[in-house]
Amino acid sequence: MNCTYHIGNQIQMICISPHKCQYQRKLCIECQYEHEVDIKQHTVLLKKFQEAAIKKLTEAMFEETSEITNLRMKFKSILSKIEGELKKIWEELSEFIQKTYDLIEIENQSYMNLKNENLNPATLPYADLEKLVQIIEGKNQMTGQTRKIHIQLEQKRLRIGWTKKLILSAKS
Ligand SMILES: [Zn+2]
Ligand SMILES: [Zn+2]
Repeated sequence: MNCTYHIGNQIQMICISPHKCQYQRKLCIECQYEHEVDIKQHTVLLKKFQEAAIKKLTEAMFEETSEITNLRMKFKSILSKIEGELKKIWEELSEFIQKTYDLIEIENQSYMNLKNENLNPATLPYADLEKLVQIIEGKNQMTGQTRKIHIQLEQKRLRIGWTKKLILSAKS
Protein backbone atom coordinates (compact mmCIF):
# COMPACT_ATOMS: atom_id res chain seq x y z
CA MET A 1 0.00 0.00 0.00
CA ASN A 2 1.42 3.34 -1.08
CA CYS A 3 1.34 6.59 0.86
CA THR A 4 -1.23 9.10 -0.39
CA TYR A 5 1.02 12.04 0.47
CA HIS A 6 4.46 10.75 -0.55
CA ILE A 7 4.41 9.06 -3.94
CA GLY A 8 6.45 5.87 -4.12
CA ASN A 9 6.59 5.36 -0.35
CA GLN A 10 5.11 2.29 1.30
CA ILE A 11 2.95 2.64 4.37
CA GLN A 12 4.91 1.16 7.28
CA MET A 13 3.27 2.30 10.47
CA ILE A 14 -0.15 2.87 11.90
CA CYS A 15 -0.73 5.86 14.14
CA ILE A 16 -2.53 4.95 17.38
CA SER A 17 -2.31 8.38 19.00
CA PRO A 18 -5.55 9.64 20.56
CA HIS A 19 -5.78 12.54 18.14
CA LYS A 20 -7.50 13.35 14.90
CA CYS A 21 -4.78 12.05 12.64
CA GLN A 22 -3.96 14.31 9.71
CA TYR A 23 -2.38 11.34 7.92
CA GLN A 24 -5.49 9.21 8.38
CA ARG A 25 -3.35 6.94 10.62
CA LYS A 26 -1.41 5.49 7.70
CA LEU A 27 2.22 6.55 7.90
CA CYS A 28 5.09 6.12 5.48
CA ILE A 29 8.68 6.83 6.52
CA GLU A 30 8.34 10.52 5.55
CA CYS A 31 4.98 10.85 7.28
CA GLN A 32 6.64 9.61 10.45
CA TYR A 33 9.11 12.48 10.37
CA GLU A 34 6.42 15.05 9.73
CA HIS A 35 3.96 13.49 12.14
CA GLU A 36 4.39 15.20 15.52
CA VAL A 37 3.86 12.32 17.89
CA ASP A 38 6.16 9.97 19.79
CA ILE A 39 6.97 7.11 17.43
CA LYS A 40 7.52 4.48 20.12
CA GLN A 41 4.42 5.38 22.08
CA HIS A 42 1.95 6.26 19.38
CA THR A 43 2.81 4.26 16.29
CA VAL A 44 2.79 0.54 15.58
CA LEU A 45 4.41 -1.37 12.74
CA LEU A 46 1.89 -2.37 10.07
CA LYS A 47 2.51 -6.09 10.61
CA LYS A 48 2.27 -5.79 14.43
CA PHE A 49 -0.94 -3.83 14.10
CA GLN A 50 -2.40 -6.48 11.81
CA GLU A 51 -1.47 -9.26 14.26
CA ALA A 52 -2.88 -7.38 17.25
CA ALA A 53 -6.09 -6.58 15.35
CA ILE A 54 -6.65 -10.21 14.36
CA LYS A 55 -5.95 -11.36 17.92
CA LYS A 56 -8.39 -8.84 19.43
CA LEU A 57 -11.07 -9.60 16.87
CA THR A 58 -10.76 -13.32 17.49
CA GLU A 59 -11.01 -12.78 21.25
CA ALA A 60 -14.04 -10.54 20.83
CA MET A 61 -15.73 -13.08 18.58
CA PHE A 62 -14.99 -15.87 21.02
CA GLU A 63 -16.38 -13.84 23.93
CA GLU A 64 -19.49 -13.00 21.96
CA THR A 65 -20.00 -16.60 20.92
CA SER A 66 -19.57 -17.97 24.43
CA GLU A 67 -21.91 -15.30 25.78
CA ILE A 68 -24.55 -16.25 23.24
CA THR A 69 -24.04 -19.92 24.07
CA ASN A 70 -24.47 -19.15 27.79
CA LEU A 71 -27.61 -17.14 27.12
CA ARG A 72 -29.03 -19.86 24.94
CA MET A 73 -28.35 -22.49 27.60
CA LYS A 74 -29.96 -20.32 30.27
CA PHE A 75 -32.94 -19.74 28.02
CA LYS A 76 -33.24 -23.45 27.30
CA SER A 77 -33.10 -24.37 30.97
CA ILE A 78 -35.78 -21.76 31.79
CA LEU A 79 -37.92 -23.10 28.97
CA SER A 80 -37.57 -26.70 30.07
CA LYS A 81 -38.46 -25.68 33.63
CA ILE A 82 -41.59 -23.89 32.38
CA GLU A 83 -42.43 -26.84 30.18
CA GLY A 84 -41.98 -29.27 33.06
CA GLU A 85 -44.16 -27.11 35.27
CA LEU A 86 -46.84 -26.83 32.60
CA LYS A 87 -46.76 -30.56 31.99
CA LYS A 88 -47.28 -31.16 35.69
CA ILE A 89 -50.20 -28.72 35.87
CA TRP A 90 -51.60 -30.20 32.69
CA GLU A 91 -51.49 -33.75 34.10
CA GLU A 92 -53.05 -32.69 37.40
CA LEU A 93 -55.81 -30.86 35.62
CA SER A 94 -56.47 -33.71 33.22
CA GLU A 95 -56.80 -36.06 36.16
CA PHE A 96 -59.08 -33.62 37.94
CA ILE A 97 -61.25 -33.18 34.86
CA GLN A 98 -61.48 -36.95 34.47
CA LYS A 99 -62.51 -37.29 38.12
CA THR A 100 -65.17 -34.63 37.64
CA TYR A 101 -66.50 -36.43 34.60
CA ASP A 102 -66.58 -39.69 36.55
CA LEU A 103 -68.43 -37.95 39.38
CA ILE A 104 -71.09 -36.63 37.00
CA GLU A 105 -71.31 -40.06 35.40
CA ILE A 106 -71.83 -41.82 38.73
CA GLU A 107 -74.40 -39.25 39.78
CA ASN A 108 -76.34 -39.57 36.53
CA GLN A 109 -76.20 -43.34 36.81
CA SER A 110 -77.71 -43.25 40.29
CA TYR A 111 -80.54 -41.02 39.04
CA MET A 112 -81.14 -43.48 36.21
CA ASN A 113 -81.29 -46.34 38.69
CA LEU A 114 -83.79 -44.50 40.84
CA LYS A 115 -85.98 -43.78 37.81
CA ASN A 116 -85.93 -47.43 36.73
CA GLU A 117 -87.18 -48.83 40.01
CA ASN A 118 -90.80 -47.76 39.45
CA LEU A 119 -90.00 -45.15 42.05
CA ASN A 120 -91.79 -46.61 45.01
CA PRO A 121 -90.43 -44.57 47.91
CA ALA A 122 -91.54 -47.17 50.40
CA THR A 123 -89.17 -49.81 48.97
CA LEU A 124 -86.17 -47.54 48.53
CA PRO A 125 -83.10 -47.96 50.72
CA TYR A 126 -82.53 -45.07 53.09
CA ALA A 127 -79.58 -43.60 51.13
CA ASP A 128 -81.59 -43.46 47.89
CA LEU A 129 -84.63 -42.04 49.62
CA GLU A 130 -82.46 -39.39 51.23
CA LYS A 131 -81.13 -38.48 47.81
CA LEU A 132 -84.65 -38.20 46.40
CA VAL A 133 -85.71 -36.00 49.29
CA GLN A 134 -82.72 -33.75 48.59
CA ILE A 135 -83.64 -33.56 44.91
CA ILE A 136 -87.31 -32.82 45.60
CA GLU A 137 -86.37 -30.19 48.12
CA GLY A 138 -83.98 -28.72 45.60
CA LYS A 139 -81.01 -29.08 47.91
CA ASN A 140 -78.98 -31.25 45.64
CA GLN A 141 -76.45 -28.87 44.19
CA MET A 142 -73.93 -31.53 43.33
CA THR A 143 -74.51 -31.61 39.60
CA GLY A 144 -74.52 -27.84 39.34
CA GLN A 145 -71.29 -27.66 41.32
CA THR A 146 -69.46 -30.28 39.33
CA ARG A 147 -70.51 -28.52 36.12
CA LYS A 148 -69.14 -25.26 37.46
CA ILE A 149 -65.86 -26.99 38.34
CA HIS A 150 -65.82 -28.50 34.90
CA ILE A 151 -66.24 -25.11 33.20
CA GLN A 152 -63.52 -23.55 35.36
CA LEU A 153 -61.14 -26.36 34.62
CA GLU A 154 -61.85 -26.10 30.94
CA GLN A 155 -61.00 -22.39 31.02
CA LYS A 156 -57.74 -23.14 32.87
CA ARG A 157 -56.88 -25.83 30.38
CA LEU A 158 -57.37 -23.41 27.49
CA ARG A 159 -55.19 -20.83 29.18
CA ILE A 160 -52.41 -23.33 29.77
CA GLY A 161 -52.65 -24.56 26.18
CA TRP A 162 -52.36 -20.99 25.02
CA THR A 163 -49.29 -20.34 27.20
CA LYS A 164 -47.68 -23.48 25.89
CA LYS A 165 -48.25 -22.39 22.31
CA LEU A 166 -46.70 -19.01 23.10
CA ILE A 167 -43.64 -20.65 24.61
CA LEU A 168 -43.27 -23.01 21.67
CA SER A 169 -43.49 -20.13 19.20
CA ALA A 170 -40.89 -18.16 21.20
CA LYS A 171 -38.59 -21.17 21.07
CA SER A 172 -38.68 -21.64 17.31
ZN1 LIG B 1 -1.49 10.38 13.80
ZN1 LIG C 1 3.84 9.53 3.69
